[in-house]
Amino acid sequence: MTGGTARRLQHFIDNGWRDSETDRWIDDVNPSDVRDVVAHVPEGSADDARAAATAAAKAFPAWRALTGPARAEHLYKWGAAIGDRAEELAQVMAREVGKPIGEARGEVSRCVVILRYYAGEAVRQIGDVIPAQSPGALQFSLREPLGVVAMITPWNFPLAIPLWKVAPALAFGNTVVLKPAESSSYLAALLAETAAAAGIPAGVFNVLFGAGATVGAAILEAPEVRAVSFTGSGAVGARIAATAAARNIRYQTEMGGKNVVIVMPDADIAKAASLTAAGAMRYAGQKCTATSRVVVARSVEDEFLRQLRSQVESLPIGPVTDPKAAVGPLISRASHDSITAALKDANAESIFTSSIPSSADFSNGNFFAPTVVRGGDPDGLLAQRELFGPVLAAFTADDADHAIELANGTAYGLSASIFTRDLRTALDYIDRIHVGLVRVNGDTTGVDPHAPFGGMKGSSSGSREQGPAAREFYTEIKTVQVNP
Ligand code: NAD
Repeated sequence: MTGGTARRLQHFIDNGWRDSETDRWIDDVNPSDVRDVVAHVPEGSADDARAAATAAAKAFPAWRALTGPARAEHLYKWGAAIGDRAEELAQVMAREVGKPIGEARGEVSRCVVILRYYAGEAVRQIGDVIPAQSPGALQFSLREPLGVVAMITPWNFPLAIPLWKVAPALAFGNTVVLKPAESSSYLAALLAETAAAAGIPAGVFNVLFGAGATVGAAILEAPEVRAVSFTGSGAVGARIAATAAARNIRYQTEMGGKNVVIVMPDADIAKAASLTAAGAMRYAGQKCTATSRVVVARSVEDEFLRQLRSQVESLPIGPVTDPKAAVGPLISRASHDSITAALKDANAESIFTSSIPSSADFSNGNFFAPTVVRGGDPDGLLAQRELFGPVLAAFTADDADHAIELANGTAYGLSASIFTRDLRTALDYIDRIHVGLVRVNGDTTGVDPHAPFGGMKGSSSGSREQGPAAREFYTEIKTVQVNP
């Protein structure tokens, strides 16, 4: 699984590659084989953050002054540049973050779709005409860009999450400084290469590398930064929201989930078992929308768990470059250790655990066997804490009301699905479930790139991402009245 040489990264500022002034480095390793160092990531400094923010601020007036159709042309070209390197990007994704190659290819294709979609958004209406009280006056609203937007992103969708922030920001006339996760920095550098190849003008898109606590925090303090879009864990999101609120800059935070599947007595059990297994275990459960709880009606529990077991055991665990691979490694040894410790702390009662193949392909990676446990106390760790791994906690429901009470009983509110054939049950659940992404007879993971994305309660703050919803975040409204 060793994949080649380690690349020494540089910041991408003003369309140039620049060394960090710190000369300190973070190793970015292949989670399938931790002996393979993918990249040496520079530890950025506050000065590097200031240089990136200055470049983005300098580029803003000219980028903002471009017409929507001209910005759209740039986004189309960027999509094409990504398409030209699609297979290479997917292979790097498999190596750098352990995403199984089939899903990695899907993510790269999604990036092209995202850029095409926002190229279209760049030419849509940017305001409304509003009847005025003054006779003869013309009154209208105009949407304008905010200026420099900082983006702080996680490693798990290393291209799609940055792009579903960057593409709308640029479409509406903002400029960007992206601070990607340390463990997906190589892909962010390749993203910058594709932007330069597509002719995105200097300073419009900048990439800053390093640890969140240092350079991530520093970019939020740059006076040029007018907004921050963050995706990552709840603890970091809360800190970013507090910093942004204190500076009175706009923020949106997309955070974790404790996503749930409900299986009702009338469900298609085979379908429920197959989609619950996929939602919980693919990519080793490391999607923010991954299923981590299943609430099953007592009368079908034994049959559901029997079928779930066979579905989970049929999901191939790596190597991630094998097109059949479904599961893959955890991102880090620290994640492996923290999930192991959480299961121990919770005194988790196992229902079943898959096994990791014993071949040499797996011996140096952070592989974690897909595990299904009894959920236990609805207020306990297994019901409440996001573990971010292939661990599913099963709960028993007495009836539909009890199922929805269990489903809603966490601080998170990102994604949920119910399996039922009864329309009344489905409609009641749609009304009462407290999450941003609601499914009926589907997987909790994924969302169409042109549909709004985000959670309720502790999973999100600020406006939704993706699709037409992104316009809310990346523009502000001017109300204009012109009198005769
Ligand atoms: P993380 O919170 O550890 O890191 C996310 C980003 O924040 C990284 O770039 C990191 O360097 C930066 N960061 C860390 N500390 C910072 C600080 N003090 N100031 C500024 N930036 C800082 O998250 P992760 O481990 O990369 O990703 C996994 C988490 O992301 C999970 O909780 C998952 O649910 C969540 N996630 C949510 C969504 C969503 O859309 N809701 C999507 C994907 C992932």
